[in-house]
Amino acid sequence: MVVPLLLFFTPVLNFAIGFVHLKKTIMPTLCPCGSSKKYSDCCEPYINGVVKAPSAEALMRSRYTAYTVHNAEYLYNTSAPAMHRHLTKALILNWAKSNHWIKLEVIRATQNLVEFKAYYLDNKLQAQVHHEVSTFINQSGSWFYEDGSYI
Ligand SMILES: [Zn+2]
Repeated sequence: MVVPLLLFFTPVLNFAIGFVHLKKTIMPTLCPCGSSKKYSDCCEPYINGVVKAPSAEALMRSRYTAYTVHNAEYLYNTSAPAMHRHLTKALILNWAKSNHWIKLEVIRATQNLVEFKAYYLDNKLQAQVHHEVSTFINQSGSWFYEDGSYI
């Protein structure tokens, strides 16, 4: 009985594995920041520390993405040192995990300012929009989140 079952399931399993592989190849994971680029060609190299975010907007997008992947380390490290007094990685992680991040909309960006809307479901599954104008500072060639005001 085992052998016929195996004979039946092996092709099915192979087909399933092949389909998953095909899906990964054809439809690479898109970056959560909404750039329409692959995650690996967008925010991932910044978040993994391979490359520095080249602009305030790139940093802002990568910070949104870091919330979606719960990377508190990156969010802490890309906050201006002056903010560290009010910030802990645990607080960041808690905020990142207690919401379900849906999408990011960048409304305008200048050299050191980004206005954006982040859409998410809160821990009561209520739809929320976080609308903020953020300012960024460049120190020694690295961009940092300096301040933000809610709109
Ligand atoms: Zn991205």
